[in-house]
Amino acid sequence: MSKTAKQKILVTGGAGFIGSEFVRQAVHKNYKVVVVDSITYAGDLSRLNDVKKHIKFYKADIGNARVMENIIKKEKPQTIIHFAAETHVDRSIQDAAPFIDANVIGTQNLVDLARKYNIKKFVHISTDEVYGESQRGRFKESAPIKPKNPYSATKAAAEFVVRAAIHTYNFPALVIRPANNYGPWQYPEKFIPVILLKALKGQKIPVYGKGEQIREWLFVADCADAIHVILKKGKLGETYNIGSYFEKKNLITAKSILKLLNKPQNQIQFVKDRPGHDFRYSVDCTKLRNLGWRPKHNFAKGIGITIDWYMNNLNWLESKKKDLEAHYKKVYKKR
Ligand code: NAD
Repeated sequence: MSKTAKQKILVTGGAGFIGSEFVRQAVHKNYKVVVVDSITYAGDLSRLNDVKKHIKFYKADIGNARVMENIIKKEKPQTIIHFAAETHVDRSIQDAAPFIDANVIGTQNLVDLARKYNIKKFVHISTDEVYGESQRGRFKESAPIKPKNPYSATKAAAEFVVRAAIHTYNFPALVIRPANNYGPWQYPEKFIPVILLKALKGQKIPVYGKGEQIREWLFVADCADAIHVILKKGKLGETYNIGSYFEKKNLITAKSILKLLNKPQNQIQFVKDRPGHDFRYSVDCTKLRNLGWRPKHNFAKGIGITIDWYMNNLNWLESKKKDLEAHYKKVYKKR
């Protein structure tokens, strides 16, 4: 841990999958860290067990203006790193309302407070999904935004809220668009932990359509590391993609995980495709690479670490099953 005392940062969504990895790295870099998270079904404070003595935590909803104002007034952070969001595309297709609340209204609320309390830097975490799908080539940051599902529509709207503040008030913000993350602690409704959980239990692994969709896989520690690089060296007003250039068809990802676990390939079960399923996401990272960043994990290394972690934390995986079952029961009741 570096000896120099660093600035105070407020991290929203810091009990989530990527936010918690960012917080762990921030503590090791000796930042003073304040985490704000409402602990939705996807949030979990145990992700921060390793560093809990070194951070301050507030259970709060970013949409609650009064509560957020009190926290910002009291803590006086110099920087806000904004991860908090509803993040699961399938849930947004079932019901977009919570996504509008958290992702759009929550972001507007934070931007208003950050302006009022003269925050020096606002780092907004968006997603590569705002570009929509790409058949070939990689999206540069200057590419048009064409979100195609309710989740990415709300993430695009949130970006526009931030961008409008940059343009109108010279708001000191940066926007970051990471590719698909994977790694330890990811909630088991996302593609890779779903495969792992089902494979380990000998259950059928659902793959949408024919598994032809392509995703660019970014190891979570690399993503958090890139956000730290952008936090330090990125230029205010700019947008930065984070990608790995490790692209894989979903079917190949599922097959390679089964192979690594010594499980039969016939565990894969093709299921009806997700409505409006984007074919491929891929981002150009020249701008970020020009800041000196490179991913440290190729897919083989990252997936190895991920599998080991899940094998050693099956209890955590199991503990999420109840929430998931309750959720799906509600969804099927609605239909
Ligand atoms: P996650 O779902 O694991 O975590 C989100 C966190 O935000 C949770 O801890 C949740 O409790 C919290 N939260 C949600 N609504 C809140 C609210 N109203 N107030 C306070 N806290 C709230 O998500 P993640 O995968 O860690 O993603 C973090 C960010 O990165 C999101 O903005 C997401 O859009 C973006 N992103 C994720 C990926 C990915 O592959 N996971 C890729 C690109 C971008």
